[in-house]
Amino acid sequence: MSRRRQIYEGKAKILYEGPEPGTLIQYFKDDATAFNAQKKGTIQGKGVINNRISEYVFTRLNHIGVPNHFIRRLNMREQLVRQVEIIPIEVVVRNVAAGSLSKRLGIDEGEQLPHTLIEYYFKDDALGDPLIAEEHIACFGWASNEEMQDMSSMAIRVNDFMCGMFAAIDIRLVDFKLEFGRIWDGDYSRVILADEISPDGCRLWDINTGEKLDKDRFRRDLGGEEEAYQEVARRLGLLQDDAGPSEVFDLAKHRKRRGK
Ligand code: C5P
Repeated sequence: MSRRRQIYEGKAKILYEGPEPGTLIQYFKDDATAFNAQKKGTIQGKGVINNRISEYVFTRLNHIGVPNHFIRRLNMREQLVRQVEIIPIEVVVRNVAAGSLSKRLGIDEGEQLPHTLIEYYFKDDALGDPLIAEEHIACFGWASNEEMQDMSSMAIRVNDFMCGMFAAIDIRLVDFKLEFGRIWDGDYSRVILADEISPDGCRLWDINTGEKLDKDRFRRDLGGEEEAYQEVARRLGLLQDDAGPSEVFDLAKHRKRRGK
């Protein structure tokens, strides 16, 4: 039992009050959901891996000047982040046709897009996160024009950076989702990158074999999701190659032994 105050519980993460005002603790669960939580399951060790991958990506994004909420990792499943006012928009960046784009427009999965596409979805589980146009965002005041500019230019920078980062480890960055939040300073606010970047919210395909190394393994019942997430972390240099079964699986075994 935790004595900390829980602020929010989402499908894959829990947010707790942080040690200082304006901070939160982001806890990564092993729970996995798909199709607006109609499909539920767990991916053993996912929380540990996503915590590490997200730490790595956000730290590197910080180094190239993409402001984000990450402060530091606290332990295997938790990181300290800045508290933001989440903007209710999911920003999806696509380099290759896949998923809902392929379904909606009848474009073959795997087709390289002529240029990077940015799409916006309204963050509302009850409505199934519908695709929206910039016009809707302006009309309903979900974000200002200036915030839209900031979010789209950060999304492009994140995409350029991550395409290179993943290409270097033989992974094709097909698409991914970002979330942004506002931080306030008196009457002024600015937008920073929030949430997480991990195989839960990215499509990652092996460049040579096309093998899926992301949550589509769970969504599409392909199996091997633990191994896929672990493979991404291993290629990023976050797991030791020669350590035999990783700390993640040790943790899973440990929890099983304790009947959890
Ligand atoms: O399903 P769709 O093709 O629209 O997803 C595009 C990208 O956004 C995928 O990488 C998917 O993992 C991510 N996504 C997400 N959370 C959602 C919707 C999409 O992480 N609610």
